[in-house]
Amino acid sequence: MKTDILIVGGSAAGLAAAITARRFHPDLKITIVRREEKVLIPCGIPYIFGTLKSVDEDVLSDAALTANKIDLIVDEVTSIDRQSRRAITAGGDRLEYDRMILATGSNPLIPRVPGVDLGNVFAAKKDAGYLQGLQQALEHARNVVIIGGGFIGLEFADELSKLGKLRSLSVVELLPHCLLLACDSEVCIKVEEKLSNEGVTIIADRKAEAIRGNGKVESVELDDGRQLKADLVILGIGVTPNVALARDAGLSVDEKAGVDVDDYMRTNDPHIFAAGDCTRKRCFLTGKTSMLRLASIATMEARVAAMNLFVRRQRAPCPIGVFGTVVGDLAIASAGFTERTAKEEGIEVLVGEATSLDKHPGTLPGAQELTVKLIFMKDSGKLIGGQVYGSDKAGYVVNCIGSLIQHGMRADEIAVFQMGTHPKLTPSPIAHQIENAAELALASSLQR
Ligand SMILES: Cc1cc2nc3c(=O)[nH]c(=O)nc-3n(C[C@H](O)[C@H](O)[C@H](O)COP(=O)(O)OP(=O)(O)OC[C@H]3O[C@@H](n4cnc5c(N)ncnc54)[C@H](O)[C@@H]3O)c2cc1C
Repeated sequence: MKTDILIVGGSAAGLAAAITARRFHPDLKITIVRREEKVLIPCGIPYIFGTLKSVDEDVLSDAALTANKIDLIVDEVTSIDRQSRRAITAGGDRLEYDRMILATGSNPLIPRVPGVDLGNVFAAKKDAGYLQGLQQALEHARNVVIIGGGFIGLEFADELSKLGKLRSLSVVELLPHCLLLACDSEVCIKVEEKLSNEGVTIIADRKAEAIRGNGKVESVELDDGRQLKADLVILGIGVTPNVALARDAGLSVDEKAGVDVDDYMRTNDPHIFAAGDCTRKRCFLTGKTSMLRLASIATMEARVAAMNLFVRRQRAPCPIGVFGTVVGDLAIASAGFTERTAKEEGIEVLVGEATSLDKHPGTLPGAQELTVKLIFMKDSGKLIGGQVYGSDKAGYVVNCIGSLIQHGMRADEIAVFQMGTHPKLTPSPIAHQIENAAELALASSLQR
């Protein structure tokens, strides 16, 4: 079979790339090859086990493929012959392409601890059959240990705590606090308190050294010798880029960091682009390799790759890392650097924080507090990070902060923004958190 554009992978990056490619190339033949019949929405995986109740409720619709006249092949690309520009599939097809986008994603990171292969040890695999197995195993589980207190681990903890049928539910985190890679400790503590109130035991600053059991998991052993009773373990310690196909095709890759791409998402083969969790990323500020893997980055990179297939149109901005989550009724969101990660890089910062209700007057039904913390570089005044917590408006406010970081805005510019307001939709214009946090950071610089 012959196609103009071949996209390997049909999740966030693959689908976004296909849609953009269609908009820029209305007349070309575009084909997606993906391994699975049904693609899961990866960000929805933790919610399968509580709110959604079934794997089938977390499926990415193929409607966009039909609407955009994208051909779909369910198969696995097993090798690429770059010279003849053919992809060979497990099913024996030879797919001839003019341009290819690799969107092969990532797999869960499996730690090398003894017992990780025991029965009832699961990871957040983006695989419907595997997750159905986890759901069945959870039916009988009474003592669950989650290894990893990042956002995936905490989303599982929050959802499982609501089931109300577990005897014990613990989260083991290596760092001093859960979520510490994304938030400063005062925000992490609020999240941990919420989870503790839901009956989750948080064990931070501890390493899971081994998983013990006979065929099936029975306990998790910590580095202080403690044994946590467990009949089911969920691993949430990160992901590793899926680079095997690119590596075997002779493309430049780093096994841990991903497929090497330039600013236009091109690999070292001018006919092959890559996007999403499978690519190497660089920090927007330091240029160092970054381990961030998010759907927001994957889809942005996919759009850039698809725009540049035949003409160089658009550079990809380096990832900032904008994301949010919810624990109980507390929304938490973060973008860019925290105070802690900035200090680790030797960056001196100015911080401003503002809290107010998300509607005005605060007597309106449903008004809730929202706090914004902004982190600026002391020398230039540039915004490099922000955290938001409180009401569910956090999701949109953090996206606004992400845009400000991406455009290199300074505290003095942000303090004079003209933010639209409405009683039912926003805080009071006097109390708008973003401008106030920027103004407080500016004022603090004058007091030093
Ligand atoms: C539990 C969980 C929760 C998350 N929550 C969030 C969130 O709230 N917000 C956020 O921004 N991000 C979140 N993420 C991260 C986000 O899901 C990923 O960044 C995103 O899925 C990356 O998309 P991708 O298309 O690059 O890769 P993937 O989603 O990994 O998809 C890769 C695709 O490639 C296919 N493939 C791979 N190799 C081949 C091959 N050889 N042949 C054919 N097909 C192949 C796979 O089958 C799959 O379709 C979460 C991730 C997980 C696991």
